[in-house]
Amino acid sequence: MNDPRIEVRSIRATPLDRKHVLVAWEFAPTLERFSDYEIWLEKSNAPHDGFERVTALTDKTGSYIDEERVFKFWKQYFVRINIKSKNDDYEFISDAYGIEYPPNVEAMELIRRTKVTLENNRYGNGIECNVFLKKTGGQRCVECFDHLKGRVTKSQCDNCYGTGYTGGFYIPIKAYINFSVDRKVSQIADVGRMGRSENHAIMGGYPVLRPGDVIHDARLHRVWVIVTVENIERRRHLIKQKIHLDEQERTHVLYLMCEEKNAEQE
Ligand SMILES: [Zn+2]
Repeated sequence: MNDPRIEVRSIRATPLDRKHVLVAWEFAPTLERFSDYEIWLEKSNAPHDGFERVTALTDKTGSYIDEERVFKFWKQYFVRINIKSKNDDYEFISDAYGIEYPPNVEAMELIRRTKVTLENNRYGNGIECNVFLKKTGGQRCVECFDHLKGRVTKSQCDNCYGTGYTGGFYIPIKAYINFSVDRKVSQIADVGRMGRSENHAIMGGYPVLRPGDVIHDARLHRVWVIVTVENIERRRHLIKQKIHLDEQERTHVLYLMCEEKNAEQE
């Protein structure tokens, strides 16, 4: 079997606020080690030439915030990812991707107001949490991925945390989250699950969440897994995310993941 080399599956560039563009990518599944490659995010004003390096990438993160005053001087620009092997002449250059939609003044204002509502020191209703986005590509787990069966063999694996990809999650992104009232009490009566609860919460548009992503409230040391996400959009901009969360047992391997990745970052 030919091992697939490291490739990028998709790149998305979207306006984040008046001064920033969010670039997010996904690596294809591979058996290769990322430390054997040099990976660069590049950008250009034209889709076919003039690309310059923006930053070096690893598989510890799946997105980058690029400073571009997109609103004041709106012009299209293009991003791509360049991957080179350190050991042989393998090179992969992705397609070039433009910003998906032009920044919109009304949407930018809603994004700004949502941020103030959640983050304001005195009046904000959000709590600062760590958001761990789940990997959906990259190096297959070296501990538990079964290549014949095409799936993970341990649910509590401390290398991939059940995702099938080494590291499991990207390094955390801080975000303010407004939790609804805890429903723990009724849960115990209804289902008998002690010490666990479901919750609903509201977050801004960044980072972009998907089911399976993890939220860690470091203050109370609680770990939630996202069950569903509902997007509130305006002119294609993501303004808010309404999320349904499921709290994890203290013994769950995701607690270990949160601790290790927080420590790694400090
Ligand atoms: Zn694993």
